[in-house]
Amino acid sequence: MSGTKKTENPSEERAPRNFLEEIIDNDLAEGRHKTILTRFPPEPNGYLHIGHAKSITVNFGLGQKYGGATNLRFDDTNPITEDTEYVDSIKQDVQWLGYQWKEELYASDYFENLFEFAIKLIRDGLAYVDDSTSEEIAALKGTPTRPGSDSPFRTRTPDENEDLFRRMRAGEFPDGSRILRAKIDMSSPNMLMRDPVIYRIKHAHHHRTGDQWCIYPTYDFAHGQSDAIENITHSICTLEFMSHRELYNWFIEKLELFPSRQYEFARLNLSYTIMSKRKLLQLVNEKHVDGWDDPRMPTISGLRRRGYTPKSIQEFCARIGVAKRDNLIDVSLLEFCAREDLNKIALRRMVVFDPVKLVITNWPKGKVEMLESENNPEDATTGERSIAFNGTIYIERDDFMEDAPKKYFRLSPGASVRLKSAYIITCEDVVKDDSGTVTEIRCVYHPDSRSGSDTSGIKAKGTLHWVSTEHAIEVEVRDYDRLFRVENPAEEEGDFLDYVNPDSLTVFPKAYAEPALIDDANEAAASGKIPHYQFMRKGYYYADTSSTSDKLVFNQTVGLRDTWAKMNK
Ligand code: ATP
Ligand code: MG
Repeated sequence: MSGTKKTENPSEERAPRNFLEEIIDNDLAEGRHKTILTRFPPEPNGYLHIGHAKSITVNFGLGQKYGGATNLRFDDTNPITEDTEYVDSIKQDVQWLGYQWKEELYASDYFENLFEFAIKLIRDGLAYVDDSTSEEIAALKGTPTRPGSDSPFRTRTPDENEDLFRRMRAGEFPDGSRILRAKIDMSSPNMLMRDPVIYRIKHAHHHRTGDQWCIYPTYDFAHGQSDAIENITHSICTLEFMSHRELYNWFIEKLELFPSRQYEFARLNLSYTIMSKRKLLQLVNEKHVDGWDDPRMPTISGLRRRGYTPKSIQEFCARIGVAKRDNLIDVSLLEFCAREDLNKIALRRMVVFDPVKLVITNWPKGKVEMLESENNPEDATTGERSIAFNGTIYIERDDFMEDAPKKYFRLSPGASVRLKSAYIITCEDVVKDDSGTVTEIRCVYHPDSRSGSDTSGIKAKGTLHWVSTEHAIEVEVRDYDRLFRVENPAEEEGDFLDYVNPDSLTVFPKAYAEPALIDDANEAAASGKIPHYQFMRKGYYYADTSSTSDKLVFNQTVGLRDTWAKMNK
């Protein structure tokens, strides 16, 4: 195994070998392959989701680990639901996740090869054209416990079959009038081996081949043969394809192709969301979300827009490993991985979501003081920023309580708190409007309590974030909750749409932020590098795609609270 390369990813390094790695190690040791070639085979009928990310990290990860490679193959054999919009988004998402494919390929590029493979099967007496209706075919199929019976068309001669199949291709017959079936075994215990369909007539426009074809191969006839054409050594798919493996091998054997082999692992299921492209499309079409890249969607593009990093998604996939049994992964593990990465890279900024005015009565009139504050205490290279302070600020409305209980560590009459990077203040009184709502909090500050040079000896109960009323900018902030109210919406009774969480989005249309966010936005526009933020005491945030320098809009990536780490202590 001299040709193997070590992984660069430390999280994979510490993990024990998974069963796929054991298989590959074995294949290389026994000389079955000199190097490995895997593929990621999306059907371009939707945007990729976090489940696909799992498949991407497995396939590309193995390619990298063993010094082999991975192809990106669009499994585009179903003309009706496929589109180039999806092709483009898939390529963008794979690259964004940090992977580069060896070749970009399309199953539709093999339509001619696949047609010739079908002709070979026909000539070898291993495929036949069946004129039966789908009801007739179903009736003869049998059940898992009862063998099926032969179609009356099963005894057609190779010549007759070839003639009919070529005429199917030529467009002589309407949709659904005939199919091509492999001739295998109508009494096989594996239902898929009971003369499976390999070609159907569909007079449909294909996003790549246009109107060139009116017959299309089935998944089973296209997938393995495409693997073999590309010399894929390990064709990794999810467990539901287990029963297809026998058929996969049958085609490769009868057509005498490169011996690609199929291996199955468990799909990733994530709590409080769904993983089916069909259902995600329904959420988009029926406007439950704002598009495929809505930050609440489990799509790669949604996670990106929300502020997840490729690294956090890779780490998540590495931590869940490669399982052989289906399970439901807690979404809080994904959030944990996001926090872990964001804590290291996020710039700290202060934003007040629900402001109430606070006036420091003993602040010298007209004085503006510039305070220095670290951009990121986890990363000294990010330096400091200056924040203007002039004694009139906004704090969060819920950081003040008039009749506070003993354990309240924020502001209340008589209590002292520290303003982050500034001074300790003590609350003296409040101003209220007619309805009793507090409109202004009045405090004194302690001049000798400045952060970094505090000699006051005053004990502050807590530290509050704040923004200067005069310098603050107005921004919009969007907080997100889970898209579904239940852990596993796909398993619930009735329509999954009934379980959509109606409160998954909270908008703060007029939050106040420190002006550094404007400088950041300008820098990002110039460099193309959009910073991740920790809005202090709030969570991690990322500029939305709709954000402009006139109106900054931020999405909550994830809150600060860490339930997963606590649960697993
Ligand atoms: P969906 O059911 O969401 O439409 P799919 O399996 O039809 O998914 P494909 O485009 O065919 O989507 O998937 C491309 C690859 O990604 C396949 O190899 C598939 O097995 C894998 N994949 C899809 N969903 C998951 C998942 N939840 N976990 C792991 N791998 C997945
Ligand atoms: Mg599929």
